[in-house]
Amino acid sequence: MKLNTLEDLLVHELKDLYSAETQLVKALPKMAKAASHQELKAAFEGHLEQTEGHVERLTEIAEMLGKKLTGQTCKAMKGLVQEGADLISEGAEPAVRDAGLIGAAQRVEHYEIAGYGTARCLADQLGHSEVADLLEQTLEEEKDTDEKLSELATSGINAEASQE
Ligand code: FE
Ligand code: FE
Repeated sequence: MKLNTLEDLLVHELKDLYSAETQLVKALPKMAKAASHQELKAAFEGHLEQTEGHVERLTEIAEMLGKKLTGQTCKAMKGLVQEGADLISEGAEPAVRDAGLIGAAQRVEHYEIAGYGTARCLADQLGHSEVADLLEQTLEEEKDTDEKLSELATSGINAEASQE
């Protein structure tokens, strides 16, 4: 696809996000299963529900713009998900694995935050205010998740890991 306009770029960015989110819908249950600490498990399960909502918002946006968002692979998310899967298969102590899972998940959130920030900014500049609003809602949820993961890392979970 040739990118001639910012509108083309917005669609390109949205396709990347759509691919990223659909990959996460498959990866998050595996991360929840691999997590030992109940709070971390619950955080992953809660974010899975939100992530399904993110896919829905992108589907809504696709309809608003009259574009298809399927058919592109987010290679970065593929790599991040693979790193998470590698960590899970490495056979760590449960609490240590939890700490690693938090790190893997925060890499994912930061990637999404960057992607949604870019897309929201483009949508704003192009005058797609409803699209920008939907992207903003998801962006806030990604930021909240990142903060929650930071809290989990600095509160109980990593302290428990350091005692192993
Ligand atoms: Fe998301
Ligand atoms: Fe997320």
